[in-house]
Amino acid sequence: MVDEQIAHPRDGREPVTDSRVLEAMRMVPRHAFVPTDVRQQAYADHPLPIGHGQTISQPYIVGVMTELLRLGPESRVLEIGTGSGYQAAVLAHLTPHVYTIEIVAPLADAARRALQEQGYLEVQCRTGDGYRGWPESAPFDGIIVTCSAEDIPRPLWDQLKPGGRMVIPTGRDFGVQELVVVTKTADGGRERKSVAPVQFVPMRREGRE
Ligand code: SAH
Repeated sequence: MVDEQIAHPRDGREPVTDSRVLEAMRMVPRHAFVPTDVRQQAYADHPLPIGHGQTISQPYIVGVMTELLRLGPESRVLEIGTGSGYQAAVLAHLTPHVYTIEIVAPLADAARRALQEQGYLEVQCRTGDGYRGWPESAPFDGIIVTCSAEDIPRPLWDQLKPGGRMVIPTGRDFGVQELVVVTKTADGGRERKSVAPVQFVPMRREGRE
């Protein structure tokens, strides 16, 4: 999967080159994070349904988003949208400081279980609305949002360290979205770089439908 889809994709996609990211993705047993009925397709080059109308991202997109975070071994990283727990497991190979939030309780429970079973004991999981971030454990060097938002959620921006990077799909629900990297400069300014067109499920808000 890593060689053919991520490190050397043959169809014009930009390869992921960060060796720590490639190694992390080689280590995580992706099949352990997907439901049994789609397990044979766990390593295929596309997203997969994980129940509750949600999906686990395509492996290539996980690689691209992880590389964009530029995490070091001491980085603190927050993920919004735990989903299956797969992305959190990849992050856990890069740093022991991984925090992840999922709004759909049964998905959060299943992800917690899968992470435990696979030995990712240091990943901190929370069930709730990730729009608000995780203020008690902020600030973060990296924030990765795996559901799309129309704009950069203000609480997440506030929880990013100066010099930190947020990787987030932005755009209208199910419409055209773009993956962007937003960097907080040393003086708190915002630098935004568009990376690629993507399609993610929209971020939900607690108490709203
Ligand atoms: N990173 C996941 C893929 C997640 S799909 C993986 O590796 O499998 C996007 C996830 O975001 C879904 O599980 C969805 O329920 C969740 N989500 C949507 N809105 C959210 C919110 N406000 N807070 C936290 N999670 C949210």
